[in-house]
Amino acid sequence: MLDKLFAYLSAAHHKIESIEADRWYLLVDSVPLLRALSDPAQQKLKELVERFLADKKFFGGDGLEPDLEMALRVSALACLPVLNLGYHWLDDIREVGIYPEAFLVHHEEQDEFGVVHEGYEPLSGEAWEHGTLVLSWPDVLHSGLMTDGHNVVVHEIAHVLDARNGAFNGFPPLPKGMDATGWTRAFSNAFEGLNQQLDSGVEPQIDDYAATSPAEFFAVTSEYHFERPDILQNAFPEVAAQLEMFYGRSGSDSGF
Ligand SMILES: [Zn+2]
Repeated sequence: MLDKLFAYLSAAHHKIESIEADRWYLLVDSVPLLRALSDPAQQKLKELVERFLADKKFFGGDGLEPDLEMALRVSALACLPVLNLGYHWLDDIREVGIYPEAFLVHHEEQDEFGVVHEGYEPLSGEAWEHGTLVLSWPDVLHSGLMTDGHNVVVHEIAHVLDARNGAFNGFPPLPKGMDATGWTRAFSNAFEGLNQQLDSGVEPQIDDYAATSPAEFFAVTSEYHFERPDILQNAFPEVAAQLEMFYGRSGSDSGF
């Protein structure tokens, strides 16, 4: 099946040296987050998407065979976070897998007593260390709607950006002009604040999955930056300001 798939996608590659305008606008129109971009930003995104489609391999899991529409949608959402940062921030991604639903991932965890727990956990997306991004299609379809702040593609891309300087720790390399002290202060305070809210039974404004670790905090707040900057601004204004410097502004005033 994989052979057939790669054959299909490389055939598709010949056709998508440039994406037909109609196809592109159909996509942009159907995703509120893309529709909200200024015209120049949409144009710049299209160029990044053409590179992404030509550069990365797409494969399907559990019987799904990704078609060009799927690859296009994933690529647009994957390139959006690097519109300002630059395409090379996605260099570490080699392939993208699309699954028909949340997939089960085998994981092992060692507890405080040194006992290893094994199990299968359903995931909507995952960034693997060797350059593979894996996404569930229903979660991709739910991304970019600007409703509840969820965007699995942005989430996984945030992990990829985070890992560019080594560990998944919520501290990606910062573009020129950004100050590491300001970043660390904003994120540490907010992460602590969120955990305190949860400890004292206060309902947090953002998805409590962000409290899992600094890496997840960065990935989840990145989702809000694009999907619901208003919620992030209310909940953690200093983090919102840092992410605006990092990714650039989201939405129609994206500054292009
Ligand atoms: Zn994550």
